[in-house]
Amino acid sequence: MKKISITEPNAGSDAAGLRTRAVQDGDSWIINGNKVFCSGAHLPGTVIAVMARTSEDKHKGLSMILVPNTTEGVDVRKLDTIVRRSLGTTEIFFTDARVPVENIIGQPGDGWTVVGSHLEWERLSLAATYVGNARTALDDTIRYTKDRTQFGRPLSSFQVLKHRMAEDECEVEAARLLVYSAATKLARGEKALKEVSMAKVFAAKTAFRVATNGMQALGGYATLPEYDMERYFREAKHGMVGGGTNEIQHSIIAKQMGL
Ligand SMILES: Cc1cc2nc3c(=O)[nH]c(=O)nc-3n(C[C@H](O)[C@H](O)[C@H](O)COP(=O)(O)OP(=O)(O)OC[C@H]3O[C@@H](n4cnc5c(N)ncnc54)[C@H](O)[C@@H]3O)c2cc1C
Repeated sequence: MKKISITEPNAGSDAAGLRTRAVQDGDSWIINGNKVFCSGAHLPGTVIAVMARTSEDKHKGLSMILVPNTTEGVDVRKLDTIVRRSLGTTEIFFTDARVPVENIIGQPGDGWTVVGSHLEWERLSLAATYVGNARTALDDTIRYTKDRTQFGRPLSSFQVLKHRMAEDECEVEAARLLVYSAATKLARGEKALKEVSMAKVFAAKTAFRVATNGMQALGGYATLPEYDMERYFREAKHGMVGGGTNEIQHSIIAKQMGL
């Protein structure tokens, strides 16, 4: 398994501000620094693709280096997050961690370019998962409101709930089409920076809106883990941050619009 570690305590949205350093020593890279929020880095057999600084230029001084999580000098600690509990996310401390020079991806300084192409695919796949999350949250809401009776009628017969679900249905389909549109461009080998960010931000907002409406429709039962809605709600909130925040997606879209 390979996991990507870019984020640091002082370099989140401003990822290129990272400080973890890799210095060449003979036929090795020696890595020092620390990372935060690396998903799955603790799992057995994992190689961490670590974005490290190999020279001072903000973007061209970054390199991607493969580091097995069992390397001496690598300390991976699991974080107790309220999201992505099934995979888990970690903080990582590197103290004179030594890996062979050939573990670099491409050449020294290629890191930003390598991660740029990766991020487009990662964001598109995230957008697709948010569409799936939103669909499931809406399906659960529909099922629950059909089954639950109050004032002698199913909840789904109350216009306010019905219309909210109809609106959510439109948004889930719109999000799905934005994902298909971005995927089509990428599959053709075309640039799709704007389309991918549009799909990601819209799908993340849709998943959050649908899960929020689901929480309301399920009333008190929404707070019980066995109803799943609270998990959709937590994961959807994270969708607005992971893989680049909504604000950063808007900045990418605006730049592509010439703004
Ligand atoms: C569960 C989880 C898993 C993760 N997995 C990984 C992983 O596997 N690998 C990895 O490298 N990272 C991972 N991340 C990190 C994730 O990508 C960052 O959390 C994200 O990029 C935001 O960085 P930050 O948390 O430091 O927030 P900040 O960058 O501090 O942002 C805080 C707020 O300020 C806003 N903001 C910042 N800059 C601007 C700006 N220029 N304009 C407008 N608003 C701005 C942001 O949008 C946000 O709302 C993970 C995070 C979590 C929570």
